Amino acid sequence: MLRILVVEDEKAIANLIHLSLTNAGYHCECVYDGLTAANRIEDSKYDLILLDIMLPKVDGYELLEYIKPLGIPVIFITAKSSVSDRVKGLKLGADDYLTKPFEIIELLARVETVLRRYHKTEKLIQVDDLDIDTQSRMVKKRGKVISLTMKEYELLLLFIQNKNIALFRETIYEKIWGSDYMGDSRTVDLHVQRMRKKVGWEDKITAVYKVGYRLELI
Ligand code: CA
Repeated sequence: MLRILVVEDEKAIANLIHLSLTNAGYHCECVYDGLTAANRIEDSKYDLILLDIMLPKVDGYELLEYIKPLGIPVIFITAKSSVSDRVKGLKLGADDYLTKPFEIIELLARVETVLRRYHKTEKLIQVDDLDIDTQSRMVKKRGKVISLTMKEYELLLLFIQNKNIALFRETIYEKIWGSDYMGDSRTVDLHVQRMRKKVGWEDKITAVYKVGYRLELI
């Protein structure tokens, strides 16, 4: 799981970022001042740091100088929107810049872009009792390989990426089969039922009345 550190002293914003990144499948940790951040960065390996500029003890600019030699990408998150601050941050080596207030969707897009630039995309996904290697498309349940067809594998990933969200049969069909849904619910039902049986998730991927299916994970 990709690890992201959020350094932000406004707890409401830190919590919101934490929730959004966790939901999107990242491992996210928050710290609320620059000194704690420096200690944490020393001890742990992070794939990305989201960094506020105005911070207690050690500010974001100082922290950035400390982080850059470590080769960890940084996205500044700040209320400052003036051009000079933006230029200073980028000159110091920040990879991107996000100005508060921002939309979650923008945050996620920037995080994804920077991670991709650093070739830090997720290769191994661990969900519940499954381990998925997205490069070899190998799925293992408690160490035992499960043989899935291409469509079943894609279905499984779709559910994992949208865990705890009810997916319409229509959406499932269009995402997996790539064509317009013509009311062919049997195709979706058949594939979902076979896939969840193979991975032993009959109790986790459940039918949602009049909608479709949902993967329920705590
Ligand atoms: Ca701040």
